[in-house]
Formats: sequence, C-alpha cells, structure tokens
Amino acid sequence: MDKSRLCIHTITTRPWSIEQAMDKYAEAGIGGITVWRQSLEGRDPEKIGEQLRSRNLSIVSLCRGGFFPALVAADREKAIEENRAAIREAAALGAPMVVLVCGATPGQSLEESRKQIADGIAAVLPTAEDYKIKLAIEPLHPMYAGDRSAVNTMASANDICQKIHHPLVGIAVDVYHVWWDPNLAEQIGIAADRSRLFAFHVCDWLVPTKDFLNDRGLMGEGCIDIPGIRRMVDATGFNGFHEVEIFSDRWWATDQDEFLARIQTAYREHC
Ligand code: ZN
Repeated sequence: MDKSRLCIHTITTRPWSIEQAMDKYAEAGIGGITVWRQSLEGRDPEKIGEQLRSRNLSIVSLCRGGFFPALVAADREKAIEENRAAIREAAALGAPMVVLVCGATPGQSLEESRKQIADGIAAVLPTAEDYKIKLAIEPLHPMYAGDRSAVNTMASANDICQKIHHPLVGIAVDVYHVWWDPNLAEQIGIAADRSRLFAFHVCDWLVPTKDFLNDRGLMGEGCIDIPGIRRMVDATGFNGFHEVEIFSDRWWATDQDEFLARIQTAYREHC
C-alpha cells in the first residue's frame, strides 16, 4: 500500500509521546506527521523537527492556532500574540503551515466573531510572511458554533480568505466538519481555483455520536462518504497529504500499536 501521502496527527495517538509516535509512524512507513502543540511541551521544536526529518517524516502542519474572537480587546491581543508564537514554533519545527481553529465567543454575534477572526488573521500575517508559514482556516461543524468556531462552512471560510486575499491564507478541509454540506463540491472547487486548498483531514462521523469532541470514528466506522469527498478534492488536482485526525476516548483507551495498524487498514479500504 502506498502510504507516502498518509499523514497522522499526533493527537490521533495521544497516549504516545511525540518521540514514540515518530518512531512508530516511521517504522510503519507513513509519509507525514502533523504535530499538535501540546506534544511539543517541554521540548525544543527545532530538535524535534530534526528528529522527524531524520526519520523521513514530512512535517505537514502544526496544530493549532486560532481562537481569535474575545469580548474585550486585551484578550483578542493575547490571542494574536499566541498565534504569532504558534507561527514561530512552526518555523522552528520546520512545518510549512499552522492550522487555525478560528474560535467563537458566547455573548457576541457570530458575525462579530467572524470579523474578529479576519482581523486576527490579518494581524498575524506579517509574522507569517516573515517565516513563510501558511495559515489554514479549518471550518468547523456547526455544532461548534457556540464556542469553538464561527466559521462553519466552506463558503464562510472562502469568504474570509477572499476578504484577506493573501497567498499564505487558505483552507483545511476536514471531512468531519463539512461532510453534510450540499455545496461541498462547489466550495472545494472555489477554494482550489484560488489556490487555497491547503489540507485534507479524514476520520468518520459515528451514529450516534456520544461526545461532541472526543468521539470521532476511524474511517469506515461512520456515515461519511470519505471516498466521495476525496474524489472532490482529487478532482481539483490537490496533491497534499491525507491527514488522519481522530479524537477518540474509545480509541485512545486501546492498544496504540493495534490502533495504528487499524488506521492503515482503514486508510487503504475507506479513503
Ligand atoms: Zn481537522
């Protein structure tokens, strides 16, 4: 099986340290890794970057920045600083991109939050330019509109990108968040036409879903037409990684070697 375009997010195998994860992914012949910031805690990102490259793992992105909206200006400024730190961390690691979970704040309208998101991204752009780091807006499923993201559709992400209009600002498409969207193919096409299709994340939607955050399924366990969405993405000429990003209390409680094997089988059969 060709695993050169398979990438795994470190959070997918959360029980493993990044040192364990990099060894296991490399042994399995997996092509890429997306690093979650918490897995770098207490470590030198430059050194981790070297270790990843020496194992022939492509560093696909750093997760995550964002969370720009806030009720008061001081908190928005704090978020901007944190995003600049994430960009510097990505540069040290050697990751070309930071994925943004854009944020939403109860107590203000989604429209206001979206404006603050666009303003926040614009504010960190000079830092992104300095380090040549891409910023990928990840639209989140509407169930997260309350407090995690005011950007809930590809159309909304495309709008914000169009407002900012910068080659370093694009979109991460995650099947978990957008699979239900009747305009998905069209909006993926629009993003790609504008050279803004930056990343493609896969997992599955379980029926029933027991937890808003940590009950994602392995590909094939749920109801998302992953091959169908992949065809939409492929049709645009996208040649990036297929990133497996699964938050799952259920899978985290299992043997992670077994889980990694299951991920590879699921990738072959259901992506
Ligand atoms: Zn994602």
